[in-house]
This record gives sequence, C-alpha cells and structure tokens, in this order.
Amino acid sequence: MRTRQFKSESKKLMDMMINSIYTHKEIFLREIISNASDALDKLYFRSLTDSSVGLGADDFVIRIDLDKENRTIRVSDNGCGMTEDELDSNLGTIAKSGSLAFKNENEKAENVDIIGQFGVGFYSAFMVSDKVTVETKAFGSNEAFRWQSSGAEGYTIAPCEKDSFGTTVTMHLKPDTEDENYSEYLDQYRINELVKKYSDYIRHPIQMEYKTSKPVEGEEGKFEDVTELRTLNSRIPLWKKNRSEITEDEYNKFYREKFYDFEDPAKVIHTSVEGQATYHALMYIPKRAPFDFYTKDYEKGLQLYSKGVLIMDKCSDLLPDYFSFVKGLVDSEDLSLNISREMLQHDRQLKLIAKTIEKKIRSELEKMLKNEREAYEEFFKVFGIQLKFGVYNEYGLHKEDLKDLLLFTSSKEKKLVTLKEYVERMAEGQDAIYYACGETAEKIEMLPQCDAVQEKGYEVLYLTEYVDEFALKMLGEYDGKKFINICDEQLDLDTEEEKKALESENEQSKDMFEEMKNAIGDGVSSVRFTGKLKKHPVCLTSEGGISLEMEKTLNSMPGADENKVKAQIVLEINAEHPIAEKLKKLYSDDKDTLGKYAKLLYDEACLIGGRKLDDPAEHSRLVCELMTI
Ligand code: ADP
Repeated sequence: MRTRQFKSESKKLMDMMINSIYTHKEIFLREIISNASDALDKLYFRSLTDSSVGLGADDFVIRIDLDKENRTIRVSDNGCGMTEDELDSNLGTIAKSGSLAFKNENEKAENVDIIGQFGVGFYSAFMVSDKVTVETKAFGSNEAFRWQSSGAEGYTIAPCEKDSFGTTVTMHLKPDTEDENYSEYLDQYRINELVKKYSDYIRHPIQMEYKTSKPVEGEEGKFEDVTELRTLNSRIPLWKKNRSEITEDEYNKFYREKFYDFEDPAKVIHTSVEGQATYHALMYIPKRAPFDFYTKDYEKGLQLYSKGVLIMDKCSDLLPDYFSFVKGLVDSEDLSLNISREMLQHDRQLKLIAKTIEKKIRSELEKMLKNEREAYEEFFKVFGIQLKFGVYNEYGLHKEDLKDLLLFTSSKEKKLVTLKEYVERMAEGQDAIYYACGETAEKIEMLPQCDAVQEKGYEVLYLTEYVDEFALKMLGEYDGKKFINICDEQLDLDTEEEKKALESENEQSKDMFEEMKNAIGDGVSSVRFTGKLKKHPVCLTSEGGISLEMEKTLNSMPGADENKVKAQIVLEINAEHPIAEKLKKLYSDDKDTLGKYAKLLYDEACLIGGRKLDDPAEHSRLVCELMTI
C-alpha cells in the first residue's frame, strides 16, 4: 500500500488545520455532520426514483459514537458513500479554492478567524485529531475502502470490510495540552451541546447513545445505568414551518430560549422570501433593551444559517445600526458553508438579503404604528432613540426611510405624534413645524416663548432627548414645512405692521442695547425688544445654526472641553412689558443701574430657560442690593 501525497494546495490547508491557530476548533463536528447530511440527501433523492435504495425518508440517519478509552469520535451515515476514485479525489484535494485562497490573500492578516465563521470542510477534523480514518462503501457497490491519514505526510487508501453502504469517519483525538482540552469532545453532554448549537436543524436525525442513570422501578432510592439512543437535533427549524402552524407560544418560547430573554418579545417578524435572494428569516423585537444595549459591548446582528446549519452567530451586516435592537436569524439556501471566492459572491447575496431584511423590518414597524398604536408607542419609548440616530447618522442617508417612524411629544394633550399627524392638523396660516427643547415637557412648557406660539393655536413638539434636534436639523423640513425652534430668533409670529413697529423701536433703543450688552459681557451677542413674549419679561434665543440645546449637548460630549461650541445668544425683552419703559428711563437717568438690571434680566432669562447662571454669587449680591435700595 503506497502513501499518496495530497495535492500541493491541500497540503497547505492541511498544515493550517494541524497547526490551527483558530479558536473555534469545535466547528469540526459541524463540518463532518454536514458532509454526512449531504451524503444522506444525495441518496435520499435517489431513493425517490430508485426503489432499490430500500430506505424510507426517516431511515437516513447520522450516528455519533464516543469511545473514551480509545479517544475517538465516530460519525457514521448510511448515505451515498464513496467509491475508491471518489475517495481519492474528494479527500485528496481540498476544497479547490476556498479558505486557502482567502488565507493566501490575507497572509499578513493574522488571526483571521475564517474557519470559526465559515466552513472549511472535512480537513477541519485535523484541528482536533492526529489521525482520521474514513471507511466508506458507495451505494450499489460491493467494495468498501478505508482512507487514513495522520496529517500532511499524505494518506493511504486500502480495501476494507464494511457491511452496508455509507461512510464512517473516525477521528482519533490529539492528546490534551496545557492550552487545549481535546478530551471535552469525548463528553456526551459537550457533543450534545455542539449538535444543538450548530446542527440542530439538520433534517436527518443525529443520534447518539446516551448513558444516564435512572431510578429502578419499585425500588426506592436505587438507580441503574441505562443506555438509550437519543436523537440530539430538533430537525425541523421553526422558521421553516408555515406561520399558520406555529402558535404564539412556540414563537415566544423559541425567542426566550434562543436569545436569553425572560420576557416575551414585543413583536415577531417571520418571513420567507424567494427570488433574487431566497431565505427564511425569523426576527424579534424585544420588549426591553438588553442591559448592555447602550454600551460598546453590545453586538448587533442576526444569526446566519446555511440550509439549517449555523455559520455565524452575529452577522452584523444583516442589520443597519438603527435596527440593531432586532434579534433573530436568517437561513438561506444561497449561502454555502465555504468561504473566499464563494464568500465574495455571497457577499453580494448577503447584501441583497440585508436590503430586503431592512425593508421588511421597516414595513412591519410602519404596520405596527398604523394598527397597534399603543404597542408602537411602547416600542418607541424603548428603541425610538435608535431611529432618531438613524435619521441623523451617515449624513442623513436614511432619513427619508425613517422620518415617518418618528414620534415626538406634542403640546397638544402631551401625547406622542408623528410628523405626518402634526402637519395634517396644522392651524390655518401656519407654515412651519414648531419645536422646543428641554429636559422635560414640564420644563419646556415654562419657556417664555411657548405662550405666544400656543396662543396662535400652533402645536409645539417637545424635544427632550439630545439627539432630537440633531435629527430634525438633518431632516431640514417635512412635507415642505420647515422646522423652527421657538427659541430661535427667527421665530416670527408678528404681522408685517407689528414687525415694522418693533423694528423702529429697536432702532431707537440701539444705544441702550449696546450699553446693556457691554454690561452683561460675553454671555450674549445682542440685546433687543421682541413682540413674541406674552406675560414674560425676557427670554433667550439663539442666532445662527447652533441652538441653546445643541450648545449644551455638544459641550457635554467627551473631549469637548478644549473646543467649546458657543451658541450666539440674544437677550430678548418683551416690548409690551413695563420693564421696557423702566429700562429706557434708566438709560437716560442712571446708566450704572441699567447695567445691573441688564445682568439681572439676563440671569432671569437663563433660569427660566433651564441654563446655569454664569455667576450665582454676583446674581445674589445684585438682587439684595436692589432689595435694599
Ligand atoms: P465540501 O463538503 O465543501 O465539498 P469537504 O472537504 O468537506 O468539502 O468534503 C469533500 C468531499 O468529500 C465532499 O464534497 C463529498 O463529496 C465527500 N465527502 C465527505 N464526507 C462524505 C460522506 N460522509 N459521505 C460521502 N461523501 C463525503
């Protein structure tokens, strides 16, 4: 019997496997089981037209045997088997392309965990074994052959005895080392776990003799060891069943077990797609954000299966960031276990799947918003901020898709509204969407500017999250209506006449305002009269692109200390308020007191607008001074 050499590229891959640096060695079992399952499929299809096969659909079985004494795992199937030629060509040349090409291109990229994520086939057995034996008999043949290899040196093929058709792969485990415990693969619980993890949805039964201890009937307290043949895999994946056959309970239980939640999900999305991309997807929206959702440890992604075999646990490419809260899985026939050239192709396929998945989630949310308002509002309270980030991120690339999913608290009944609802019920003559920012709705309602806007019958959106205003700025407008911050100096509710009158008032008091501005110092960039305040004497507004809220947000970000952003603040004084006359009088009689008044009015405007005072001590001193006059 001569020793045959592996084809040269196979040799390289073999070396990689033997000296594997990969962390996911455990996937060897998935690979061997998948091969067995493919062999069963082949013979099964043949059995449909060839009665000589003599097996019914349920007779195709994969069997695992563990032998602790001899340190072997054996995986057997009664599938199509291989002839001598097939053995030689199939196991003498490794996946002609595959991982090897990828590895070569990426030689320098160390620790590329390709194998951990995608299949590499039969040779992965050498990650855990120092010798592999394959005994096989092709269906319809009288001869059986044994292929054997201890690694890169080569392999031998010789005739052997085998009762029936099919293949048996026997892996002789490597001795344990300080870093690797290969013996774990001799443990029935560990093997059960691996089958459940990677091969649960292989449609043929994967059986193993299970040794357990059972109470002896009739003899209390006595146990006996029993061996029973168990099927380890669930076989039919839930996602491949018809929706009508699945109860809500089943969906929920599956979610809780698979995605480790103790609560049922808020929404189940189950879809099967055929066409350019063919796949089943089963996705869930959790009720609550996972505890690590807002940390950088949180990994988004869907599980990726290829024909029922898990190939990646968190495929992040399948979910856009704004839907990162979605849990679930995708199973596609279009993806193979193998990587590299195929992978690049599949990359395209994966993108296609990702695109339709994104659309599906979006349309489900739209439906939920329309038909299950309460549930949607609950969802939005938990994950809405993610959608707002989605509008804002990537320079607004997705804003059109997401804008109708947003909700904001409105001044009307303090309920959540969509932008569409806001626009549909806008008051006559209103041509902009008004909003205000603050920590809470209650604080926003205290803003002096609120009165005037509401008196006009205009609804105001209360933005209480820091990303809100950035999202609206990114949208720019909705349905042709501009967004206006009621604290922006652009807020303009006056008639033309009122505006003219105000303009001349401001012109006449120009010097007084200059005086006041100088007294206040850096805090403000200008002072002026306004017509937009009803009962309040003063308010702060901002000019230019940066609002008061944005200033606060940007300056609270990490690293903002050296580079503080400054809004251009305007102190606006109610032209109708008695304070206006008082200021004019002081300007002609007592400029010193005017300066103090200016400072106090500025402080007042800060307090009412939810800003910190620049100098609380001075404020207190000034108030007392005026109290004691
Ligand atoms: P892949 O499965 O991706 O083609 P592998 O290296 O895993 O690559 O296997 C090489 C080939 O060996 C398979 O394509 C198949 O033809 C053959 N083979 C492997 N295992 C079995 C088996 N249990 N029964 C029959 N043929 C097998």
